[in-house]
Amino acid sequence: MNIILLGPPGAGKGTQSANLVEHHGMRQLSTGDMLRAAVKAQSEVGLRAKAVMERGELVSDEIVSALIDAELAAMGDDVGAIFDGYPRTAAQAESLDGILEKNGRKLDYVIELQVDEDALVDRITGRFTCANCGEGYHDRYKLPEKEGVCDKCGSTEFKRRPDDNEETVRKRMQEYRAKTAPILPFYEDRGIVRRVDGMAAIEDVTKAIEAILAS
Ligand code: ADP
Ligand code: ADP
Ligand code: ZN
Repeated sequence: MNIILLGPPGAGKGTQSANLVEHHGMRQLSTGDMLRAAVKAQSEVGLRAKAVMERGELVSDEIVSALIDAELAAMGDDVGAIFDGYPRTAAQAESLDGILEKNGRKLDYVIELQVDEDALVDRITGRFTCANCGEGYHDRYKLPEKEGVCDKCGSTEFKRRPDDNEETVRKRMQEYRAKTAPILPFYEDRGIVRRVDGMAAIEDVTKAIEAILAS
């Protein structure tokens, strides 16, 4: 199974990917996570991407498609892929077709998480993650069960992304509307787009996605 999770920043792509990884043995391919790792490592890609990401603009198609190509080539054929935050432009969608074909894979579904834009700023500015295991949380919608302690690994250190501020979120939303939403018709023509109400509670969104995968 190979699926794309599509939706604006804060739609819940990372949260829902984590469920699919944990309960369905799939692998999450998040270009955002790969780029943040490159920035942290101060690699050449990281040095080129850092300022672009801080402004909420898109990193070049060549860079992100090369990251996806490398990750997919290194993956076992029997492991399903969740594309999270990729493709984000028409050029990336075309590259993905080639990359999948080269790896003997085909796209099963493009799942669009539909959310109101007003909720996104609130979701993004309340987002934080465990500094040790990466588990995602929210100041109001998903607090750790025991205050200050990660549910998953027990760490007491958490972090917030430098680009999760209101100004950058608005820029990222604009980029989504201008460059990413227009790739939907490309997949609609193939009959593989499925829509999910991303404003529902986290568990309900999970159930809706699982129902699609089981169909
Ligand atoms: P994305 O990967 O699409 O940018 P995330 O999965 O990181 O989005 O979610 C953004 C924030 O919103 C996180 O803090 C997460 O805990 C929270 N969140 C995700 N899904 C929901 C939901 N259905 N309802 C309320 N909050 C949510
Ligand atoms: P979000 O969780 O808010 O959807 P991501 O973690 O996917 O955001 O991406 C963070 C930033 O990394 C983006 O604002 C952009 O600068 C860069 N980025 C991530 N994926 C891509 C991509 N496929 N194409 C171009 N830039 C990307
Ligand atoms: Zn943790």
